[in-house]
Amino acid sequence: MAASGSRRSFDGHGSVSNSEEWRDVTDVGVQTDARVQGLAPRLSKVNLFTLLSLWMELFPKKEQEHRRKDATADSGLVVVQECKVLGLHCSSVQLHAGQVAVVKHGPRLKGCDLYFSRKPCSTCLKMLINAGVNRISYWPSDAEISLLSTDNADSRHQDAILDATAAERLKSNSRIHICVLLQSLGSNMLQFVDETSQNCEFLEKIAADNLDVADVFKQERLNNLSDFSGRFLVEDEEQHRYVLNKMGLENFCVEPNFGNLRQHMKDLIKILASVAAGVPVLQRGYGFFTRDLQVLGSSALPQDVVRHCIIQARLLACRTEDPKVGVGAVIWAEGKQSQCDGTGRLYLVGCGYNAYPVGAGYAEYPQLDHRQEERQNRKYRYILHAEQNALTFRSTEIKDEENTMMFVTKCPCDECIPLISCAGIKQIYTTDLNSGKVRHDISYLRFNKLSGVQKFIWQQKCSDFEEQAAPQISTTLHQRSDNVEVLSVRGRQNHPE
Ligand SMILES: [Zn+2]
Ligand SMILES: [Zn+2]
Repeated sequence: MAASGSRRSFDGHGSVSNSEEWRDVTDVGVQTDARVQGLAPRLSKVNLFTLLSLWMELFPKKEQEHRRKDATADSGLVVVQECKVLGLHCSSVQLHAGQVAVVKHGPRLKGCDLYFSRKPCSTCLKMLINAGVNRISYWPSDAEISLLSTDNADSRHQDAILDATAAERLKSNSRIHICVLLQSLGSNMLQFVDETSQNCEFLEKIAADNLDVADVFKQERLNNLSDFSGRFLVEDEEQHRYVLNKMGLENFCVEPNFGNLRQHMKDLIKILASVAAGVPVLQRGYGFFTRDLQVLGSSALPQDVVRHCIIQARLLACRTEDPKVGVGAVIWAEGKQSQCDGTGRLYLVGCGYNAYPVGAGYAEYPQLDHRQEERQNRKYRYILHAEQNALTFRSTEIKDEENTMMFVTKCPCDECIPLISCAGIKQIYTTDLNSGKVRHDISYLRFNKLSGVQKFIWQQKCSDFEEQAAPQISTTLHQRSDNVEVLSVRGRQNHPE
């Protein structure tokens, strides 16, 4: 379902006009409407990739990574190839996010769709246009080289304006679709994400420890909203109009476009705030800890990095096709070199959410709500689990000599455990609320016995845990103790849809 991916409307100069961009915003109706399916609402792909790009801008970095020499803002980037996420990146001290993509993917960028958290500068744009990407979309707030300045005589500001002009010239001389793609949310999407976030297993675990979860969630959501708004929205309307004008988005500056644009942006920020609040930063020592200290393995990732990756998985879960439980899974590996990405040595292997098999049309499989328990059970014979999709549609091989980590929003079931083990995953970060239980057709009896994979479980840190979070990403490599064959999952390259 590549509704927006296949839509390319050019004027005579090969560029797309603002009014066409706006139409993209409003009428590419891939936001699956609850009324169509009679189910919970889903996040559209465009909105999912946009939110992932914003979230990647916030990837936790080591201290020295914060010290940039120039005035370029950090930015996040999602590289999508044929609806499959090829890479999640962010800028580093040395490189802008667009440059990271060129260094990491090179010729594989041809035909890809790129989602940026800011409009990339002309230095990035010229290389991406040259690489033959299909489309570049960006979040319509301040640009990578900030256009916000109170002092017009400021030489940095003059440079920023020159760069914006160069970016516009590059755009109008290329055939690449460079645009703003945002889609309005389904009517009950915000409420749905609030509810599912507040009821997610990470908060359920905290509730089990007798903390006031509603309060924790509310406070965390408010903090997020304030942080994210400050970062991703231009509060002052006149300043926002100024920035849009300089970026060649004059048509967004007139009403009703301007008001609509700002509302869409605010709504998406609310979604991000709620999703992230599902895994709160608590002062009470909650985090992902293991009891498998006897297993020789890689050091744990820092807690802020783990939380970031789990929230990526929570965002993916917002695209679930399962009417009852959305699950997201992300697989990252720790490479041996290449510090150019803001993620350090971490690189994305794959990601997925629970969904019906690729190519399944609407209503081909039972899609029932939770009140239809008896028939609901049958659904589980058809749904692909998030872990299965992340493995099947991964963008790179899993290397036995590297630490490959899976982050999943729900305890892996017995159907997934052998896949995870045989695929060569070395660490898993998840919750274990269902571990040891049988729910409907799904059992979770094998997770506890899973050996050869370090399990890091969301829980309150207690004194019998040794200090596990390494100050920085470790180079220690885990030697597999079992002698299992590495599962070879090849085949279709399309992301489930
Ligand atoms: Zn740049
Ligand atoms: Zn499963």
